[in-house]
Amino acid sequence: MSTKYIITTGGVVSGIGKGISAASIGLLLKMRGERVQVAKFDPYYNRSASLLSPYQHGEVFLCDDGSETDLDLGHYERITGVEVSSKNIYTSGALIHEMLENEANGKYMGQTVQVSPHLTDSIIDKLINLGKDCDVVIAEIGGTVGDAESWHYYRAVRQLRQKLGADNLIICHVAPILWINTVEEYKTKPLQNSVEELQRSGLQPDIILCRVMRQYDHELTEEEREEDQGVISSILTKVSNITGVPREAVFDAPDVKSIYQVPICFFDRHVDDFIADRFKLKRNGVRIHRYRDLVEKYTSSELPEVNIGVVGKYAKSREAYLSLKEAIYHAGVANNVKVNIVWMEAEKLEQYQSLRGLNKHFDDLHAIIVPGGFDNRGVEGKIRAIQYVREKKIPFLGICLGLQCAVIEFARNECDIADANSEEFAPNQNNDSWVVHYIPGQENIKQKGGTLRLGSYECSLVKGSISHTAYKKKSISERHRHRYEVNSFHLDKIEKKGLKISGFNPGTNLVEIMELDRNVHPFFVGCQFHPEFKSRLDMPHPLFEELVASAIQFKKTEVSPEPEANGVK
Ligand code: GLN
Repeated sequence: MSTKYIITTGGVVSGIGKGISAASIGLLLKMRGERVQVAKFDPYYNRSASLLSPYQHGEVFLCDDGSETDLDLGHYERITGVEVSSKNIYTSGALIHEMLENEANGKYMGQTVQVSPHLTDSIIDKLINLGKDCDVVIAEIGGTVGDAESWHYYRAVRQLRQKLGADNLIICHVAPILWINTVEEYKTKPLQNSVEELQRSGLQPDIILCRVMRQYDHELTEEEREEDQGVISSILTKVSNITGVPREAVFDAPDVKSIYQVPICFFDRHVDDFIADRFKLKRNGVRIHRYRDLVEKYTSSELPEVNIGVVGKYAKSREAYLSLKEAIYHAGVANNVKVNIVWMEAEKLEQYQSLRGLNKHFDDLHAIIVPGGFDNRGVEGKIRAIQYVREKKIPFLGICLGLQCAVIEFARNECDIADANSEEFAPNQNNDSWVVHYIPGQENIKQKGGTLRLGSYECSLVKGSISHTAYKKKSISERHRHRYEVNSFHLDKIEKKGLKISGFNPGTNLVEIMELDRNVHPFFVGCQFHPEFKSRLDMPHPLFEELVASAIQFKKTEVSPEPEANGVK
């Protein structure tokens, strides 16, 4: 059977869950046994997300192949479980860059280079290539229909639909139905206009997912809910009549508490059945029970709680640590607890002269994470936080910059290297003091001119270490995005004092993980890679799982000096 394509478009405003909707459909189709691929076409002209400010765009999501993408791709990986790479994400900037390079290399043989056919053909090629080894490709066009930067995508999809036929390519349009409080009515005009805009570009939607944007001021009674559902149903009929999309293909997609509930919401509305019928796919059942249980736990407020502090730079922009946040919550689900994340601004911890001043910040915390980061803002605050949790034996996980800060802290306070630092923060300092430094040649050679080590690298674990026990295997592969490494020059001294290597790169011997022995500290682990990118709701990451388990233990011993055998207090 030929590969099927679902193209997701958006109307009216961005940020209403187009990507989550596409990913949720992907998960349901995967659960039905289809091999799924995902793609995202972003309208912006940046060539990649690597230089986008986390304040503007949230975190940079890192793929196995070292591609730096935006956080939507993270949602795709987390929800569908399909691993993404550079072949799954394209920006207008990257596509145009490629087109101009082709031109410079003589590929167009002197033709006038134009959006159509050169840009549109290249978009079609990407989609066809992606579809080679799978049953269904789900591709999202970022932004909203009518955006100046995305015209070429709609034109390419129109051409591809003509080529493959409407039985093999369908358009799923996601747009909001607004609730206007003053008149107490749902309004569909913006949605209608967006469908018209899509039609103007030659595309008629096959499915409309209506994002019902209504904040209820109270919990609805059963009766009120039924009444509201009735109103929404008649609104969907109106949308169907006006847009020409069959009523059974117009679905409501209400706001839900967690993005993981969206697949369940679509399953309950038979969105996947509709798609399967349209594509004449096998009528396989969806085994959703286990997933439903996990989501229930993820959203439950009944579970015992632990508090985990994240000492970061962008404490006000949670999106900057999206994968980290998810990894922590996944580990909470695995440990049957609800984790409250306490965001702490590292810079604020720098004002205290003594560690005692820090007490009040750590009072109710059961574990601390120092996440990755660049440049020296807040670094001294992170180092102080690490000294505090090391001395007070509070469970600690350092990620990338977090590991580097832990090494600096340990070198300064335990190894008599008073001016220990990283080349990144003290470039002019005497290089004997660099316990973390830059090693030329560690960059990914694919990244011309770049100096970041990017993408997946292997790591061997030291038998009997905390990390080895957590992963339950000897060799792992994790994603990297950093420039500096732990300096081997000081390692002997640091290891002798107790901060030991428990993971290393088998080819280069570079440090991947360092930790304190369990008998010295309950959980003090720093890793050079970013474990958060590989955590899934159904496959929590071992280091986070172990950290949360240690936080539970810590809470227990804090409450009663005689730890109990089972459960969390
Ligand atoms: N700034 C550090 C480095 O480049 C850490 C990077 C990170 O945390 N991702 O090595």
